[in-house]
Amino acid sequence: GRGLEVRDVVVRYGASRRRPGTVAVDHVSLDVASGEIVALLGPSGCGKSSLLRAVAGLEPLAGGAVLFDGEDLAGVPVHRRRFGLLFQDGQLFPHRDVGRNVAYGLETLGVPAGERRERVRELLDAVGLAGYERRSVATLSGGEKQRVALARSLAPRPRLLLLDEPLSALDRRLRERLAVDVRDTLQATGTTAVFVTHDHDEAFTVADRVAVMDRGRLLQVDAPDVLLRAP
Ligand code: ADP
Ligand code: ADP
Repeated sequence: GRGLEVRDVVVRYGASRRRPGTVAVDHVSLDVASGEIVALLGPSGCGKSSLLRAVAGLEPLAGGAVLFDGEDLAGVPVHRRRFGLLFQDGQLFPHRDVGRNVAYGLETLGVPAGERRERVRELLDAVGLAGYERRSVATLSGGEKQRVALARSLAPRPRLLLLDEPLSALDRRLRERLAVDVRDTLQATGTTAVFVTHDHDEAFTVADRVAVMDRGRLLQVDAPDVLLRAP
């Protein structure tokens, strides 16, 4: 497939007939190839989340288009896009154990129990939590919770995973380790992903290419080594 194509997208808030509102995303175009991981990097308030939400279908477009594998997603509702979402606070279900958290999306899809268990086992293994199926969510550390949330978001094999500051609630040392683990897990599962962060190191660790945003605009999109060589 061709992956994600963001074409000249505009996102506005508070627009009405009398006021133009705030432009949060200002004519942004960006391609994410199948299997590629792109980080959206920029300071707080530059429009990263707005762009991600627009791609997810959670925010209406004031201009432009979002395509996946060549299909224009205008009018395609959030759940029909078959994208995965992962936020800062993974929001696990507190009353389900780890295994049934990861299995959640598979239950919804009607995947049979045996297949579910096998897939849960593989994913917990991939995120470094082999054997955690029966653990209560309440007993997990912050880092373990985000690993479970990552496994859960990958379970239905989303054709695109959208991650919005998924590590920001964790302390610095843990963030560095998890950034590597997230990258390895996305690569091992062949997942196409957009990873929003305000942290340079995290972006350079996770991504095949880094898209630098500022005040609603995309300034530059390059591989980490190219950006690091820049003056
Ligand atoms: P980032 O993710 O880079 O921190 P956001 O996309 O959250 O940036 O925000 C971009 C701009 O849009 C900011 O000026 C922010 O205040 C504004 N904004 C974000 N969400 C809303 C909203 N729901 N209503 C009004 N303004 C918003
Ligand atoms: P469900 O199929 O509705 O999830 P089960 O009774 O099959 O309910 O499983 C309950 C819990 O036990 C789940 O957390 C599941 O992940 C875990 N579990 C079930 N079977 C196995 C297994 N063979 N190995 C590891 N964990 C398992």
